[in-house]
Amino acid sequence: MNLFTFEVYTPYRLFFKDSVGVVVLTLTDGEIGIYPGHAPFTAPVCTGILNIQDMKGRWRKAFTTEGILEVTHHKTILLADAAEWPEEIDYERALRAKERAEERIKAKSFRFEVDSAKSKLKRAAFRIQVYGMRGQQ
Ligand code: ATP
Repeated sequence: MNLFTFEVYTPYRLFFKDSVGVVVLTLTDGEIGIYPGHAPFTAPVCTGILNIQDMKGRWRKAFTTEGILEVTHHKTILLADAAEWPEEIDYERALRAKERAEERIKAKSFRFEVDSAKSKLKRAAFRIQVYGMRGQQ
């Protein structure tokens, strides 16, 4: 199996660093799979699910927020505001964040408040989805 080095950093920690077979994540124009030898590029990444195929061929899934992906000849790096494995997600907190965001959207506040609430809602909804993937990997 061909492998490449993949690293994920948040402002608080090195979330992941290992040799991997494939990384699948969502860019602003859709889902992309990064394989060994992919041509170098840099692109913004959307909030969503990060899929990593490890060196044994197993798939691991994580939640990641918006960030930047850099693919080079040597390694691929994702810089994200936050990243969590399913087991790390506080489900109740995500539910509360979802409710707060929905209330703010309903309140029809200033545009910037609604935009921020929509981003928060997206993060909460994906956290809830990834929490549901506990034990599947
Ligand atoms: P909240 O309003 O609950 O803080 P948020 O979407 O605004 O939600 P983020 O800005 O994405 O939170 O994350 C801030 C920090 O809190 C990050 O370190 C992130 O990993 C952590 N975090 C946020 N929500 C959760 C959660 N439900 N479970 C575990 N960690 C979380």
